[in-house]
Amino acid sequence: MGLFGKKKLCPICGNEMKFLSGLQVEDGQICSDCEKMLRGKFNITEGFDRADYVIKNSDPLKVMTVAEIEEMIRSMKEEQAQIIENVGSDYANVAKADKCFSIAPKALDVGLKRAKAYKNRIVATSEIIAGEFAKDDTVTITTNGNDVTTTILDVIECSSSSTFETMLAANTGKHKVEAGTSAWIILDLTERVSEGSLIQK
Ligand SMILES: [Zn+2]
Repeated sequence: MGLFGKKKLCPICGNEMKFLSGLQVEDGQICSDCEKMLRGKFNITEGFDRADYVIKNSDPLKVMTVAEIEEMIRSMKEEQAQIIENVGSDYANVAKADKCFSIAPKALDVGLKRAKAYKNRIVATSEIIAGEFAKDDTVTITTNGNDVTTTILDVIECSSSSTFETMLAANTGKHKVEAGTSAWIILDLTERVSEGSLIQK
């Protein structure tokens, strides 16, 4: 088997996989676009490896089968299409919050200014469904029909190699995300955002 043989296609979306890209899962390989879409539901976790005495990352997406991933993406796309239909022409940029959590990062990790700004703020792990979102955007959050206007303090694309805490401390990247990916959106809110909330602009 040569390295430059037949082109490899993603079993989920059918797109061609670039050399050395893609993610090895339980029984195959998926492309990085499919991975980005799902990544928010499969955050990397950090654990202490007692055998090697080091902190090791583990990736829950790697133990999923291609068939399981395919089914998951299919139902996500179905739900996203329904959301876009409901939002209609009201907003061009739409994200859906999945898991939400509060943060209180230490000044030692993120600096005094950011530690103050982020204290007790809500992070919405989100599916970016349409358009794009960036740091400092003004957005409307809709939860059970109620609208709240707020600001995005920062946005970090869900990482395929690091935890949220590590990415927040690193403070790198584009601070901007686009449709088809998943992201951690830090909102200037301390409450009133929950799973299923829509983030719109
Ligand atoms: Zn794919």
